[in-house]
Amino acid sequence: MSRESQFDVIIIGTGAGGGTLAYHLAPSGKRILILERGDYVAREKDNWNPKAVNVDVKYNTKESWRDVDGKELHPHTNYYVGGNTKFYGAALFRLRQKDFGEIRHFGGISPAWPIGYDELEPYYTQAENLYQVHGNRGEDPTEPPAGKAYPWPAVSHEQRIQHLADDFRAAGLIPFHTPLGVMLDEKNPRLSPCIRCNTCDGFPCLVHAKSDAQVLCVDPALQYPNVTLLTNALVKRLESDSSGREVRKVLVERNGVLETYSGSIVVVSCGAINSAALLLRSANDRQPNGLANSSGVVGRHYMGHTNSVLMAISKCPNLTIFQKTLSVNDFYFGSKDFEYPMGHISFVGKLDAITLRAGAPAIAPGFTLELMAKHSLDFWLTSEDLPDPNNRVTINRDGEIALAYTPNNLKAHDQLKAHLQRAMKQNTCSIHGHECHQGLFARSLYVGQRIPLAGVAHQNGTIRFGRDPKTSALDVNCKAHDLDNLYVVDGSFFPSSGAVNPGLTIMANALRVGDHLLRRLRVPIVECAANGSKSTVAQPVAG
Ligand SMILES: Cc1cc2nc3c(=O)[nH]c(=O)nc-3n(C[C@H](O)[C@H](O)[C@H](O)COP(=O)(O)OP(=O)(O)OC[C@H]3O[C@@H](n4cnc5c(N)ncnc54)[C@H](O)[C@@H]3O)c2cc1C
Ligand code: SF4
Repeated sequence: MSRESQFDVIIIGTGAGGGTLAYHLAPSGKRILILERGDYVAREKDNWNPKAVNVDVKYNTKESWRDVDGKELHPHTNYYVGGNTKFYGAALFRLRQKDFGEIRHFGGISPAWPIGYDELEPYYTQAENLYQVHGNRGEDPTEPPAGKAYPWPAVSHEQRIQHLADDFRAAGLIPFHTPLGVMLDEKNPRLSPCIRCNTCDGFPCLVHAKSDAQVLCVDPALQYPNVTLLTNALVKRLESDSSGREVRKVLVERNGVLETYSGSIVVVSCGAINSAALLLRSANDRQPNGLANSSGVVGRHYMGHTNSVLMAISKCPNLTIFQKTLSVNDFYFGSKDFEYPMGHISFVGKLDAITLRAGAPAIAPGFTLELMAKHSLDFWLTSEDLPDPNNRVTINRDGEIALAYTPNNLKAHDQLKAHLQRAMKQNTCSIHGHECHQGLFARSLYVGQRIPLAGVAHQNGTIRFGRDPKTSALDVNCKAHDLDNLYVVDGSFFPSSGAVNPGLTIMANALRVGDHLLRRLRVPIVECAANGSKSTVAQPVAG
């Protein structure tokens, strides 16, 4: 059975890109169809259960991908309304201004973006307002210029993290408060939606207080009668017209039935790996290498950051509940000892013994896993990986996703670890002095999977934007060079990835592309003075 329906805009995927775009376009009055392969995350006690989430990986997709040798991969990614923002740590950073230009790294060149920071800046402000980012402007030494203050003050440090911040400052570093999208009102705890719990990063929020794309974008968009969401709607293929310049049909499998939808504009936002896979699967006689792929770049230049979780074990316990409040960017662009960019230091949520058992870290001498969990500061280190055309998504003969990835620029990451190690050695406490710090221990990221968890969490780069159709698949508005009505607004468009978390940049870009689409649809954009954000008017302009 087949069902056909015509829409003005079809958005595929409801994560940071698709969800944000749906929110932005919703007031336009245009007929918008949102297609999401997943369902809503069930609200249940397991949302906050470390065993269910980290050991049983209850909420991960059960889909298998393949690595370059054809071995099975179980990707740590989530298919739900809100996409991976349902599970993210909500550290919402702007890229640095210099990240938009070409940067020389130890391992090679990080290419320039086709737009400058200035073009994205107003949209970063809008995205920070929309996602209720809590931060203190001016603390981060590498922070780019911003037109407005954060809408909420930074989330405060708990005692152990404050002590660490003081130690880092005494050692000459400039630690700062991580910008976070949690709906915490510390001045009014009785009414604060967020209760500042220990199960945030990697967990869905049981009380809907995390700034995710479902709660803040998709649900509000659905208040408009012109917006329709279909869940459990897996887009299998896009079909173009006889000229090859337009997507005519979106083929969807829903509850075992194949349905067909048409949109004047089709926006793909399935996450960088699935969006590339969808375009490659949509190959036809005229476009044998995949849709929008005359350049051959679709699926290539996959990036995911080089990430490590490092546990710094101290003799003193770490009683922190919500640990993600502190970051260090002193080594982002280099140091006196290493002149190349190294990356970003921040925190994961507080690790517990149940999660550690699954991650099997090297045991610190004299410690058990329980003790390590109680005494660890759990750092998250991110370095930029460089776009390599051979790091790529392909579709194998069985129609499965295959991911080839050889890490690069690793020396920068090793240097980042060494710099953190040195900074930690200078830490002190009133009981144990410098002897308090027992060393850094890597927590394996290969938790029951064969690819690094984080390698997929920060996926980007597979459908890069650029000015030259020979070397990029999308133009500066994220429209496919080859097609007139196909856009991509997830993390695929990054030509390089910087070393901060990608979420806010994806959201800001979705708002930017949203404005372009509103102009194309001839819907006026009005300034909303209250929060500096823009919104559309309810009725489209005739003609
Ligand atoms: C545990 C974890 C922690 C993270 N922490 C942070 C953080 O602190 N800060 C940060 O900035 N980033 C963080 N990230 C990364 C962040 O979540 C992603 O960068 C962001 O969600 C990517 O947005 P996206 O729109 O590209 O894709 P996604 O958010 O993944 O959305 C893609 C959507 O498309 C749907 N979809 C896929 N294929 C199809 C199809 N064929 N048909 C229909 N629908 C489809 C998916 O179900 C999903 O809903 C984290 C990620 C994880 C997993
Ligand atoms: S810390 Fe706040 S936002 Fe995060 S899961 Fe807990 S209640 Fe939700």
